[in-house]
Amino acid sequence: MRPFGTTIFAEMSALAARTGAVNLGQGFPDTDGPTAMLDAAAAAIHSGRNQYPPGPGVPELRAAVSAHQKAFWGLDYDPDGEIIVTAGATEAIAASILALCEAGDEVVCFEPYYDSYAASIALAGAVRRPVTLRAHDGGYGFDPAELRAAFGPRTRLVLLNSPHNPTGKVFTPNELGQIAALCEEFDAVAVTDEVYEHLVFTDADAPHVPIASLPGMRARTLQISSAGKTFSCTGWKIGWICGPRDLVSAALRVKQFLTFVNAGPLQPAVAVALDSPPSYYEQFRDGLQRKRDRLCEGLTAAGFAVLRSEGTYFVTADITPLGGTDGVDFCLALPERCGVVAVPTQVFYDDASAGRHIVRFAFCKRDEVIEEAITRLRRL
Ligand SMILES: *Cc1c(COP(=O)(O)O)cnc(C)c1O
Repeated sequence: MRPFGTTIFAEMSALAARTGAVNLGQGFPDTDGPTAMLDAAAAAIHSGRNQYPPGPGVPELRAAVSAHQKAFWGLDYDPDGEIIVTAGATEAIAASILALCEAGDEVVCFEPYYDSYAASIALAGAVRRPVTLRAHDGGYGFDPAELRAAFGPRTRLVLLNSPHNPTGKVFTPNELGQIAALCEEFDAVAVTDEVYEHLVFTDADAPHVPIASLPGMRARTLQISSAGKTFSCTGWKIGWICGPRDLVSAALRVKQFLTFVNAGPLQPAVAVALDSPPSYYEQFRDGLQRKRDRLCEGLTAAGFAVLRSEGTYFVTADITPLGGTDGVDFCLALPERCGVVAVPTQVFYDDASAGRHIVRFAFCKRDEVIEEAITRLRRL
């Protein structure tokens, strides 16, 4: 693990704290989630639910995840054996990779990628085979030939994150179809990171489609999500894995030796949150979409070439029009120049050249924080 330093988020948040800059670097909301969820957590703590929960997660949360998958995505998962609760999506991803990969197996994943992916693949002794998402036409795409070339006889998994952090890309049904066909052809398992499943904006080209819902894919997909992003409780670290019994039990076997269990009294509270009416999810999305629009206006006015964000908490922007050539240098200087923190996306690429000129801003912040950031960015 020697090549893995401190995560860029820790580094940039420390820089924000030190300089008093507005932190649009790390993607955590600055308001709390639904009151009913917070109350349920407090009630659980005060009613004696403070010991180890069952290894696969408390029954009411597994039932709520099952009902959610059915209601939103039309997918049927048995709460007993096809769903487990994890310490956030991060542990779910690590447990899935460690369970399914032997040393030397290959994992296809789209770069730029969430920073825990490369580390989890390395912990498994597996090899990452990146496919590069490139900025073009104002959004992001990949070359189908490059995707095909990434698959081979050692391919074990495809790790797919849609809606995608850091780009804000939502994979289209056509792209998902290409990935699914290659999974079939190479007998690979799809491990999906769908933590932004409820944050696809109304002007995106396509709605969120779990790859597990494509023909034949349920049997070869571990679908992962978590409460942190959807219910603005990133510190709770409650996630889950849904999938066929054999794959889920393999992940559970690893998970029991990573954390065994976590956050017992918060699990029933997340069950309450998942039962929120459809209006909760719509208002959550619409609120973030307004923040996205406002920040994009501000970034454009400040001189950035803003790329399309169709989902997630994030928008990326090209620094070239501002005379920038290197995102790391640009982000390190930004707090001094105007009192704002952003994150360079090149650190999420193996091929850093593809993202050298692009930086990421988070808009999951209170309106006044976004307005303050916009005012400061005008100094550029
Ligand atoms: C935030 C995030 C995670 C981590 O989720 P936790 O539930 O906090 O572990 C995983 N993947 C992506 C793409 C994220 O943005």
